[in-house]
Amino acid sequence: MSKYVIANWKMNGASASITDHISRLAKRLGSKAIANKLSVIICAPHVYLSALKTLTKDLPISIGGQDCHSHAKGAFTGETSAEMLADVGCRYVLIGHSERRKYNGEDESVLQEKVIMAQHAGLTPILCIGESAIEREQKATLEVLRRQLSILKETQGNVLISYEPDWAIGTGITPDLEDVQIVCHSIADEYQRLTDKNACVIYGGSVNAENASGFIQSKDIDGILVGGASLAPESFGQIIEISAQLS
Ligand code: PEP
Repeated sequence: MSKYVIANWKMNGASASITDHISRLAKRLGSKAIANKLSVIICAPHVYLSALKTLTKDLPISIGGQDCHSHAKGAFTGETSAEMLADVGCRYVLIGHSERRKYNGEDESVLQEKVIMAQHAGLTPILCIGESAIEREQKATLEVLRRQLSILKETQGNVLISYEPDWAIGTGITPDLEDVQIVCHSIADEYQRLTDKNACVIYGGSVNAENASGFIQSKDIDGILVGGASLAPESFGQIIEISAQLS
């Protein structure tokens, strides 16, 4: 299985900067070698997805949304459905990112509906899970992850699971590689117990060109999700190149 390198641009970018980003990235990763070794995905602000789809049409890059609504359609002003994401060419969607859990109060029941919507639309949801700093201090990490994973029991289709301890997101602090490997392994075990299927578990939280290699080389970690360091084509391109060389 090829490793995943996923960018989360969050609420950043503009038409001109995205065009410039992709043309600079393209110069670095035009090669087929990357397409054969990695699955590169960019999760962009929804208003730019159509443009991004066009800009990446000849590149080994898939696109994804950063959220979808828990209903298929209707009177939900300002929202985006999973079908709409699929319609503009997305293959993936982030679900339950810690920023959405924190700022939008998303809980397990709505996240389960979103995962189901995404799968019905033919998208692969990237379910983000992770403990807070306090939960980590209380040694409650595995209990929290088990609760967050429980929503996958009733779901049918493909899913990627991104382990993102929220104290590592945007802080420049990463857990020890060994701890990440142990946790990713536990996530895979729990997913197997819940669904009888093999999990695909990636890591996210302050990944950059300096630390990406450790995560990519681990047999327990199927890829990386990159926030801040994906915003500049140089650093994201470097992460992709390192990942391709080590895969
Ligand atoms: C994220 O937003 O999912 C993330 C991992 O961000 P960062 O790489 O900036 O910590």
